[in-house]
Amino acid sequence: MEAFDLERCGNTTMSLGLAQSAFDDVVRYIQERRAFGRELADFQAVQLKIAEMAMKLEAARLLLYRAVVNAADGLPSLADSSIAKCYANEMVREVCIQSMQLMGGYGYSTEYDMEHRVRDSFGWGLAGGAIDIQKINIAGAVLGRRFDQRRA
Ligand SMILES: Cc1cc2nc3c(=O)[nH]c(=O)nc-3n(C[C@H](O)[C@H](O)[C@H](O)COP(=O)(O)OP(=O)(O)OC[C@H]3O[C@@H](n4cnc5c(N)ncnc54)[C@H](O)[C@@H]3O)c2cc1C
Repeated sequence: MEAFDLERCGNTTMSLGLAQSAFDDVVRYIQERRAFGRELADFQAVQLKIAEMAMKLEAARLLLYRAVVNAADGLPSLADSSIAKCYANEMVREVCIQSMQLMGGYGYSTEYDMEHRVRDSFGWGLAGGAIDIQKINIAGAVLGRRFDQRRA
């Protein structure tokens, strides 16, 4: 099971990479697309979404770096790797969905990458232990206990 502490960091990295690619595309798109005579980027509501996505991306990146740096010569800890994975799994879903929204019909169309990213973003929160299981790990680390899911 300790090998999963390492695998979670790989899953976090995939979530981060996927979210970053969605973010890079949408940042480009909102500066190209014009609506109501202005770039989408000129609307404050759009700026707030971009800021929220940027903060969450950076937070996920730092949680991943912490898990890896704290591992030193060994494996990452259960708490660090579960927190990084869980946060990145939720973050990538949010970033991909918000990016799809900001790309309007193009975001939804299967002809472009964003629709595929939204689907993929849900996979990482299932693979390697679902988001709910990571939260149980985190609560266990906070409380200093392991919760056996097979017992009521
Ligand atoms: C993209 C992808 C790649 C994968 N790669 C691999 C792989 O390489 N190797 C491998 O062995 N497996 C792999 N899997 C399988 C993955 O590990 C399982 O899908 C995952 O563990 C969830 O198991 P399940 O699908 O049977 O869902 P279930 O166990 O039926 O759970 C369904 C949902 O119920 C909830 N849930 C279940 N149990 C609890 C609980 N105790 N507490 C709270 N909520 C709970 C969660 O929300 C969970 O998502 C992959 C899955 C995906 C989607």
